[in-house]
Amino acid sequence: MTKLLFGTAGIPIAAKGTDTASGIKAVKELGLDAMELEFVQSVNISRENAPKIKAVAGEENVVLTCHAPYYINLNAVEDAKLEASKKRLVKAAQVAEMCGGVSVAFHPGYYLGKSKEKAYETVKKELKAVVAKLKNSGCKITVRPETTGKRSQFGDLHEILRLCQEIEQVMPCIDYAHMHARESNNNSHGEFCDILAAVEKALGKEALKEMHIQIAGVNYSDKGELNHLTLKDSDLQYKEMVASWKEFNIAGIVISESPNIEGDALMLKGIYEG
Ligand SMILES: [Zn+2]
Repeated sequence: MTKLLFGTAGIPIAAKGTDTASGIKAVKELGLDAMELEFVQSVNISRENAPKIKAVAGEENVVLTCHAPYYINLNAVEDAKLEASKKRLVKAAQVAEMCGGVSVAFHPGYYLGKSKEKAYETVKKELKAVVAKLKNSGCKITVRPETTGKRSQFGDLHEILRLCQEIEQVMPCIDYAHMHARESNNNSHGEFCDILAAVEKALGKEALKEMHIQIAGVNYSDKGELNHLTLKDSDLQYKEMVASWKEFNIAGIVISESPNIEGDALMLKGIYEG
């Protein structure tokens, strides 16, 4: 991509209807560029309806991405849970691509008491299997494991970047709220620059032109993320963050997950362009 696009996690509050097409139209009317399909509870668009969504997004020139169901753990111990997790991710990816979506973000799983290295090996193996399945079905969507917000969750920045290095078709989803909440750090200009430098070091300069970012204000405890806040109600140093994006001249998509989704997306876009 050549520039940074801004969008909402799901249908904007201002949308006239509660359906995806109304959401896409509202994104355009608001002056935003992208929308994330929220498959977080389930994949709520049918394969039959997906081409209609793709057509509306094309008409409105809105880029779509997707958030896969929360109920995914690629480090699950029980076979049934693991298989169901992979199925959910595959389905979300396929339907998102049928909607014209360019990427699918997901939370990779939980450590469940395993060592970080052991969990890494399992998540890598299972994610590889998911990508192979997608490839076999002709699905080329970018699969994006997220940096996660709780210490019990697999997915610190290093783990995510390593998966991207070792598996094709996999790129990071940098969730700043999660990264801040996870260790109560990652909230200064220097740290924001370190994150982007780490992406560049692991995946090359091109990766900075294909960023996928999620952002919200966040309330957290010593275990990590509790709930989302608006940016202004939070301690997140978002102006410093935007400054780091400009300094590294990144491109890609920024998705607001704040309670006032479009308000914060517009505010960030304003700061970025201002
Ligand atoms: Zn997420």
